[in-house]
Amino acid sequence: MDMRAVLLDEFGGPLHIRRVPVAEPGLGEVLLRVGACAVDQFDLAIRAGRWSHAVLPLIIGHEISGEVVAVGPGVAGWSPGERVAASLYLVCGHCRHCRSGRETICEDFAGHVGVSIPGGYAEYVVLPARNLVAIPDRIGFPEASVIANAIGTPYHAFTRRMRLRPGESVMITGAGGGVGIHAVQLAAMMGELAAMMGARVLAVDVTSAKLEAARAHGADLVVNPETDDLATVARDWTGGRGLDGILELVGPATMPAGFAALAKGGRMVIVGSHTGTELAISPHAFYLNELELLGARNVSVGELAEVVDLVAAGKLQPVVSGMYPLEQVEELHERVRNRTVIGREVLVP
Ligand SMILES: [Zn+2]
Repeated sequence: MDMRAVLLDEFGGPLHIRRVPVAEPGLGEVLLRVGACAVDQFDLAIRAGRWSHAVLPLIIGHEISGEVVAVGPGVAGWSPGERVAASLYLVCGHCRHCRSGRETICEDFAGHVGVSIPGGYAEYVVLPARNLVAIPDRIGFPEASVIANAIGTPYHAFTRRMRLRPGESVMITGAGGGVGIHAVQLAAMMGELAAMMGARVLAVDVTSAKLEAARAHGADLVVNPETDDLATVARDWTGGRGLDGILELVGPATMPAGFAALAKGGRMVIVGSHTGTELAISPHAFYLNELELLGARNVSVGELAEVVDLVAAGKLQPVVSGMYPLEQVEELHERVRNRTVIGREVLVP
């Protein structure tokens, strides 16, 4: 059997659609028919060659939903016809972190779907069975494709790292993007779940369209740091107290304002940084105010099941703002490159 797939033949080069053989699922693996594959900045970084261990030609794509078609030897618990979403990390399954449910910091990390193994820009994909989580029929494949990364990432960051509590004030930088827009929803929702006052959400982004989207998804205040002083706005918004939490998706461009606006006991969680790699911090501010600076990777598969339940219950709306066939992958990459996408846009092979 063969399939249509989008192939990257050289880093920085064009993408080509070709027919290639469908792989057989090996030990512990499952063959999926791809229902949808979301596209994000990571795909562009891979394409540009910033993940040089990727083996070419490569099928990229790591935010995948689909239907089980066949299972390899040693796979229990999955059978053809089941609908799934998939996490993107390739992990060992038996190191100390994998055993404690923190497999995203696996000691024997083997890379990413769509980098170290072929990804989801294709009609079929083979994935480790341990990466899968079941999704109910009422969640469509396009929506399911954004659950593991765009929704799972802020869910992990808020619940396991920031430990966001009802009534706290939280700032989200890059709030109009794929991770950001779901972070806004999550932060607004987490308070409601506790039947208390919701976390107050300050959303930060640089276009009016993204700020409007953030407001529509639950932000109490939106700010463009190119036109307003972020630290001053955040301090004023919290009555001078400062922010309890910051979900940092932008990096050095917004982090100094964040440090200046953290409340005593405040926590900043870094999830992404596309505006630089180095930043000076003040150790004094950290110990004097018992600040916390944390990092967060992607969601664990155990947490992913919690996210699926929230989406299935209608408490979170996956924001899929565009769907494209494989033939329009270049157009979609251009939109992601220009950072004009609200939420996520997805390929539907
Ligand atoms: Zn491991």
